[in-house]
Amino acid sequence: MNIFRKIKFLVTGSRLRFGLGIIKNPGIITSIRRIDGRYTKSSAINIFWFLTRALWRFPGIFDYQPDPSLHGVSELTYMILSLEERLKKAKRDGAKIVAKWPANPTDLYFGCGVIALDPFFAGYCRILADGTSDIAKRGRAMLSEDACPAQAAAYSIISEETFPLDFFYPFIGPWCYDSQYCFEALRHKVDGDYGDHPVFDYKEDEKPSFDYMVGEIKRFIAKMEEFTGSKFDLESLRREFVIENELREALREITGFAMLDPPPINSLDLVLCIFISSDWLGDPEAALQVLTRIRDGVRARAQAGQKAQNITDKPLRLLITGIAWGDLGLYNMVDEIGGQIIGSECVLNLYYEDIDTTGDPVRTIAKRFMTTPYALPAKERAKWTVKNIQRLKKVDGVIFNCNFGCNYQTAEARMVTDTIKRETGIPCLITDTDLPQENRGQMRTRLEAFLELIRQA
Ligand code: SF4
Repeated sequence: MNIFRKIKFLVTGSRLRFGLGIIKNPGIITSIRRIDGRYTKSSAINIFWFLTRALWRFPGIFDYQPDPSLHGVSELTYMILSLEERLKKAKRDGAKIVAKWPANPTDLYFGCGVIALDPFFAGYCRILADGTSDIAKRGRAMLSEDACPAQAAAYSIISEETFPLDFFYPFIGPWCYDSQYCFEALRHKVDGDYGDHPVFDYKEDEKPSFDYMVGEIKRFIAKMEEFTGSKFDLESLRREFVIENELREALREITGFAMLDPPPINSLDLVLCIFISSDWLGDPEAALQVLTRIRDGVRARAQAGQKAQNITDKPLRLLITGIAWGDLGLYNMVDEIGGQIIGSECVLNLYYEDIDTTGDPVRTIAKRFMTTPYALPAKERAKWTVKNIQRLKKVDGVIFNCNFGCNYQTAEARMVTDTIKRETGIPCLITDTDLPQENRGQMRTRLEAFLELIRQA
């Protein structure tokens, strides 16, 4: 980024607001234990210093409006922006980093002693930090012009070695059928393997498929043992379930508070919290400290009847299905025009319920894979979404978003939204997004019209 662009970013309103926010509230930044690759401490002063320098180093994220006056948001911003550095340090300290597909449960990876990385989310983090989509454009030039932005960015960050990666081992199921091409194309940089996830006969009592899935999990475990040189321990996996259940619970509580009137958390801060569930930013224990702090901050605001920054009175509550918007600016936009995002189905997959800690952990994780809502056949997935909307009760509208280049979501969009409309009567809007910051004007017009339609319904 050239010097003029940096100066321009430095003086934009939201950057100043964020900078002043953290300077005004340095006391609310706390230390995060065992972060930085799980081996060293990150003190409050280090985080404060990192974020102060970030105003210069990572101009992109301050184009958006995270709210640093909410407890934990500064630490979350720090974790997002420091992901690359922390992973590099972890690798230098001997950790192994293994790529997964977003909907694959993280428990299995961390429980096998490796760091899970969702390269698609990491690619987005990089776009956000840079403030330009250049890495996605370079990824498309190398991979395919019609790769979705997440895959294009993931391809760049791994092939250009911006993020370290030792191995890829996603489980391939009835979801994204493009990402394996991205992983295969990365073989010039990194080796990998795939778990095979049966598409049909997904219930536990449908033995052949379930046993096959258990076999695939065991094959993964054997590979991780070979890779790390450490014997797999069932108790480690069980311990991971316990930590990640706490994370899942914190997220469910935060999303529960978001439904209150007035909402104590805005759309952007909420989605930043839930996005990180795809790999807990490489460090579940640190993520737990951060999310617990945000949960407590949101609860305190709720008890005081305090509304989040940037949100209107009585906003219309919108649920995103399909692929969540990768352009964070759209979440600020929704708040400005009288809406509020109260959840995103694609990440909800990862925390919608706890994992049972009592049974055989290998069978438990196999069941989790096979019942992940996104992994269900399309009709079942639509039914699950309907049930989820009915459970939430307060949904005013549903947005189904498709990323450019994503055949999987595009194919399901109409069927899922028709089912939602038929079963719940709630208005639905199908949106298409591509690179962050593109077509915001057009999206604003569509969203304003959609909110108007809901108000008149
Ligand atoms: S947006 Fe679609 S194509 Fe891209 S990674 Fe997600 S599911 Fe795959």
